[in-house]
Amino acid sequence: MDILNYIDGALVGPRSNAWLDSVNPATGSVHARLPRSGADDVQAAVEAAERAFPLWSGNTAQQRSEIMLAIARGIQERLDELALAESDDQGKPVWLAKAMDIPRAVDNMSFFATEILHTHTRAFETNATVINYTLRQPIGVVGCISPWNLPLYLFTWKIAPALAAGNCVVAKPSELTPLTAFLFSQICIDAGLPPGVLNIVHGLGAECGKAIVAHPRTKAISFTGGTLTGADIARTAAPMFKKLSLELGGKNPTLVFADVDVDAVAKKVARASFTNQGEICLCGSRIFVQRPIYDAFKHALLRETATITVGDPREATSRNGALVSEEHMQKVLSYIELARHEGGTVLCGGERVHVDGRCSNGYFIAPTLIEGLGAACRVNQEEIFGPVATIMPFDTEEEAIQGANSTTYGLAASVWTNDVSRVHRVARVLESGIVWVNTWLERDLRTPFGGVKSSGVGREGGEEALRFFTEAKNVCIQF
Ligand code: NAD
Repeated sequence: MDILNYIDGALVGPRSNAWLDSVNPATGSVHARLPRSGADDVQAAVEAAERAFPLWSGNTAQQRSEIMLAIARGIQERLDELALAESDDQGKPVWLAKAMDIPRAVDNMSFFATEILHTHTRAFETNATVINYTLRQPIGVVGCISPWNLPLYLFTWKIAPALAAGNCVVAKPSELTPLTAFLFSQICIDAGLPPGVLNIVHGLGAECGKAIVAHPRTKAISFTGGTLTGADIARTAAPMFKKLSLELGGKNPTLVFADVDVDAVAKKVARASFTNQGEICLCGSRIFVQRPIYDAFKHALLRETATITVGDPREATSRNGALVSEEHMQKVLSYIELARHEGGTVLCGGERVHVDGRCSNGYFIAPTLIEGLGAACRVNQEEIFGPVATIMPFDTEEEAIQGANSTTYGLAASVWTNDVSRVHRVARVLESGIVWVNTWLERDLRTPFGGVKSSGVGREGGEEALRFFTEAKNVCIQF
């Protein structure tokens, strides 16, 4: 199958005619090829977006909303096909793509399509003869760059607010998971999105992604991906004073206090650690458990983890599928090796899983729980982004907070306790953009989403995203 770029309303190959292989990580075989686009493809996309901008930004919110809702319906109608494609490309179970990724892409489009019908701007009355009002205007051509772990989910999470606010977009999905973005471009054509409003350019980060960031006429960049990539993007974009939204890596703490129902919470903590093979930036990878329940909780978590079957992503019985690539699998395995080196004990998993039949060459790793490591070691400091979590005891609330805050990351934390005063005390001091209490991955699209420290700059979600994709202009009138 040939994946094509979507530029100026048409599906086209790369100008250089250079292509990349796309591998199905569950089978290890090539299942598609995608354009290895370069600066000239990005140039064509930027020009198309600039041509489309006056018309698109001049539409009423209602007109933009109708087209975006048609796109949302198009995703919904092709849910089964998209879920299968997402699974084949990324390695996640089909049931998970059907239950989480694709429905969320529908929600992203419909949420921002309707959000823009309810926005307002502010006015400031300075005195009896002077009034100020604020216009929020679209920026122009913006770049959206997304990662491989939740492909269509995160791709649309950026594109939807950008389009809703009246911008035209040059977007790039990860080269590891281009398939659903390609299907999405077909859906946009069918929904009647005018040519050039959205352009999707496929290729490598260092080539195509960099060309989007470096292009002098992409005025804002919304990026989700690794922290090192975010730093590189900031270096390129900062001298041009582009607006930047950077959603980066995480090393999220899970704090379990002694007052919880051990079995019930162990179930939820296992889900928070290992869903999507641990390849969610929000997964809890450092589990701190208060000493009085440490042993009981550890055993409950091990029992729960043992129920996570790893297997063919197309089987409904597989709770976890394959990791996204052989390279990523090797990276995750190397961290498990490092954990042993650093003095950790692997309590379960710790190795590659060989799945018989269709998936015998796939990149599978068993959910892995490690104990005996200090908060400061590399395994507890660096993002692994796989089915690997560490478990550590703590005595006091202060010790738990110190451990939780001890990394350079600050994306999402989860706190498990029934003590309401503790909830407020702990939530205030956790260095984290998101704090979940007695839950995990509960999302309301109106809420601010993003990280602190090395986990990012800026916030997505609801009005935060619409603010990012618009410029405020103050109009001051003496009358
Ligand atoms: P990555 O940084 O390697 O790539 C992300 C995207 O950026 C890809 O499309 C890639 O092609 C592109 N890219 C790479 N180098 C580039 C460059 N120099 N200039 C422009 N674009 C470039 O990340 P990944 O491996 O795809 O994703 C995993 C990372 O994403 C993890 O660190 C994870 O925590 C993070 N992530 C964060 C969030 C969040 O919301 N904070 C969500 C999901 C994933």
